[in-house]
Amino acid sequence: MKKLFGTFGVRRIANQILTPEFASKLAAAYGTLVKGWVAVGGDPRTSTPLIKHAVIAGLLSSGCKVVDLGILPTPAVQYAVRNYYNGGVIITASHNPPQYNGIKFVDEDGIGIAEDMELKIEDMFFNENPDRVAYDEIGEVTGNDGLVDEYIDEVIQRVDQDAIAKAKLKVIVDCGSGAACFTTPYILRKLGCEVTTLNCQPDGFFPGRNPEPTEDNLQELIKTVKASGADLGIAHDGDADRTICIDEKGNFVMGDKTFALVEKQLLQENQGGLIVTTVATSSAIYDIAEEYGGEVTATRVGDLLVARELKNSDGLFGGEENGGLIFPDFVYGRDAALSTAKIVEIMALTSKPLSQLVAELPAYQSVKMKVECPDDRKQEIMDKIATDTQEYKVDTTDGVKIFREEGWLIIRPSGTEPIFRCFAEAENVDDATKMAEWGISLVKKHLGK
Ligand code: MG
Repeated sequence: MKKLFGTFGVRRIANQILTPEFASKLAAAYGTLVKGWVAVGGDPRTSTPLIKHAVIAGLLSSGCKVVDLGILPTPAVQYAVRNYYNGGVIITASHNPPQYNGIKFVDEDGIGIAEDMELKIEDMFFNENPDRVAYDEIGEVTGNDGLVDEYIDEVIQRVDQDAIAKAKLKVIVDCGSGAACFTTPYILRKLGCEVTTLNCQPDGFFPGRNPEPTEDNLQELIKTVKASGADLGIAHDGDADRTICIDEKGNFVMGDKTFALVEKQLLQENQGGLIVTTVATSSAIYDIAEEYGGEVTATRVGDLLVARELKNSDGLFGGEENGGLIFPDFVYGRDAALSTAKIVEIMALTSKPLSQLVAELPAYQSVKMKVECPDDRKQEIMDKIATDTQEYKVDTTDGVKIFREEGWLIIRPSGTEPIFRCFAEAENVDDATKMAEWGISLVKKHLGK
């Protein structure tokens, strides 16, 4: 059982649990296993310099050499590691509030490290001490000032620049004062878009909005898109691995719609290909794959698992329903910058407004609910539900996914809270709601409530 690592890295309240001592020892344990050049970068949180310097000290102490990349998006660090270094550490708490921070470790391909390596790091952290090298084996710390510009150029080269320039799209960008401040506005301007920025000064207090790009948190962006007659609004989370779009009417576009739009375009461009997603993603992804000659593989929930499967099976494209899209020929992780460039490319090539592109996608309605359940009873409840629903087609890749005529329902235990999540999708909201409620009732029945 992992004690420190969550779904991607270690995330805690900065300087309370995530102290310099904690960060340095954890980084030294990682460094003991890597022993090479390690790139370090992070988001603009107030605690990032404190944790970053502790991480660098730990890496040097264990015998690594360090490249400090400064403040930049998580996927830019992943890009750098895949192309130039032996490992990477990203200091970020992604979309969490400002008092949090976290440490993400990636392997030589730039993918979040696998669970067996996380367990080795924890074992070294708690039980055996990391390597501490002699004074004459301590490595150097260098920088790489050109990395952000290189990342920006690599994104631009992957889309049809002429078509985008001709379309003269008007885009409002809300970076939420996070790491995307250094990338997205520059990328869109280089592509010839007319860009207006909101919250595009990096600031660890996140004064403009909470770093999580939910509809509630993006009200200012929505108002600005409507008031200015823009073609598109773009928002990112704190470490710029997720992109959320607002259409020209000010509608919040759900992440699975963006996923489906890019999937459609890439399958058309490549005449098919393998799409990787999780079991909790919309049936629209399957419908589009079928229509455009693609195949779909579904993994357990988690962006790392999608990225790893894309690498292992040489997939074309992958993603999750929350707006995290993975382009495996670029970065083995969710990338907000290329997601943004792809969306403006699709709008330019089709000459259609985003609302119309979304309306043309297969339409499904989803409903999410949750119900309390003690952690120590989760497995028993899942087993009982799987047995109880044998009359339907059931998939137990992650939790229990039940397929019925009207749609599907997935009942999954949360990895961090004592709850089950019930997520249902159907062609209409009533059916989806009824199925989610049925999921809640199944959990309660087996809990004996
Ligand atoms: Mg993130």
